[in-house]
Amino acid sequence: MSPLPIFLAGRWVEGRGAPIESRFPHDGSLNAVVAAASAADAEEAIERAARAQRESGWGAALPRDRARVLLRIADGLEAEAEDIARTQTRDTGKTLAETRALVASAAGTFRFFAAAAETHEEEITAPRGPYATMSLWEPMGVVGAITPWNSPIASDAQKVAPALAAGNAVVVKPSGWSPLVGLRLARVAEKAGLPEGLLSVLPGAGAEVGDVLVRHPLVQKISFTGGTATGRAIARLAAEKLMPVSLELGGKSPTIVFADADMEQAIAGVLFGIFSSTGQSCIAGSRLFVQEAIREPFLARLVERTRALRVGHPEDPATQVAPLIRHAHRDSVAAQVEQALADGATLLAGGRAPEGEAFSRGAYYLPTILSGLPNSARICQEEVFGPVLVVLPFADEADLIAQANDSAYGLAAGIWSADYRRIWRVARALEAGTVWINTYKQFSISTPFGGWKASGPGLEKGRLGLRGYLRQKSLYWDLSGTPIPWAG
Ligand code: NAD
Repeated sequence: MSPLPIFLAGRWVEGRGAPIESRFPHDGSLNAVVAAASAADAEEAIERAARAQRESGWGAALPRDRARVLLRIADGLEAEAEDIARTQTRDTGKTLAETRALVASAAGTFRFFAAAAETHEEEITAPRGPYATMSLWEPMGVVGAITPWNSPIASDAQKVAPALAAGNAVVVKPSGWSPLVGLRLARVAEKAGLPEGLLSVLPGAGAEVGDVLVRHPLVQKISFTGGTATGRAIARLAAEKLMPVSLELGGKSPTIVFADADMEQAIAGVLFGIFSSTGQSCIAGSRLFVQEAIREPFLARLVERTRALRVGHPEDPATQVAPLIRHAHRDSVAAQVEQALADGATLLAGGRAPEGEAFSRGAYYLPTILSGLPNSARICQEEVFGPVLVVLPFADEADLIAQANDSAYGLAAGIWSADYRRIWRVARALEAGTVWINTYKQFSISTPFGGWKASGPGLEKGRLGLRGYLRQKSLYWDLSGTPIPWAG
């Protein structure tokens, strides 16, 4: 199998880094080998990106001309949607239903930021003297985008679309665990007529390619999505350069069921919140708080429904829970469950890989529910990033808010209740960037998304998402034609 090339500033080249294997998590079979990027490739991509951004006229182009290219990228993603979705399913093990939705979301993101670029406004501000004052927004130059493996095409689009819409060049470093779909995005962008050099997609090692992106003096911003430890390391280096960073990091989100909630609606939402994407989701509702009064019947029904979830092949339309990304990741999830059991947890469901020939070579793990540990336990504080739900009781609203907020993270939360006054109080008291009410894991590209606390200082999406890729500049413009009196 000859290795796939990478996309270095508009050219398809054999990367000079250690090759990366993409394997199908269902059975470990080899999908492709990618000739991954090296540190030298990253340096070259950045230098050529800076030149292309300066010389192509992209930054100064009329917004509608940039928008036209972005719309063609959206069309291209849609035209190749099924093939890209199948590639992503092979690369990550996600169900086809999910990867189809991710490609559609990526196309929608390009459309949205085409519109945002066209309708972005600058301001005439109130003057305090005989001059006109304006607040303008200009491209940054070269932006580095570093993305994780859990929903690559969507997280790549969430950075590439606004960065290009704002007039920048972008160098993307996808995760080495999911190298394939970022390269498909590059093909689509190339066909859409994006000027050469403005986009590079460089799968490669984080400590090598990612590190060059963060340190290089020509890179003006890093937009990062990934783990909190990596985000902290990037923020430290960025501080040396005084470079802005957007960090979308981990989570340990509470999902809260009050006694007056609609039981079936809450159960469906809790199941979807933790077990869809096999729990490999930053916003997974991984801590379930159930009010004491309904604890027993709610848990009995939840466990029954969890055991009935269909675990299976990612390409089978009936599958709800597919394999995890890698065997090594599955083993780390299993080890965290074992540790929780050793710490005194009670196992209510799962807690092992499924049995049978169909699962024997895959990175499968059953949807798992644990109870009996306090919120301070490791399994309740650390992000597992797998299909593992911990159940915690609460007595009243004050107790609930204290426990829900007792977490390093603050990414998302869910509330299930019929009492609108209580929902309002609790939604306002929760330390989280997104709160879902009687629903979970729903998204709109128009609505900003970001985290609090160790979930990272990042804000993406929404019309203001464009401003994260622009630099503000103020103009003061004399209208009087007279010298400043002080000098006379
Ligand atoms: P990770 O932090 O290991 O890797 C993320 C990316 O950073 C990869 O491309 C990796 O190669 C790169 N990287 C690693 N070390 C680097 C370094 N020293 N310098 C520069 N780049 C480096 O995360 P992961 O395991 O790929 O993804 C899972 C994590 O991502 C979870 O913690 C999850 O919660 C988080 N996540 C957050 C969001 C969000 O929007 N908040 C969304 C998805 C995933």
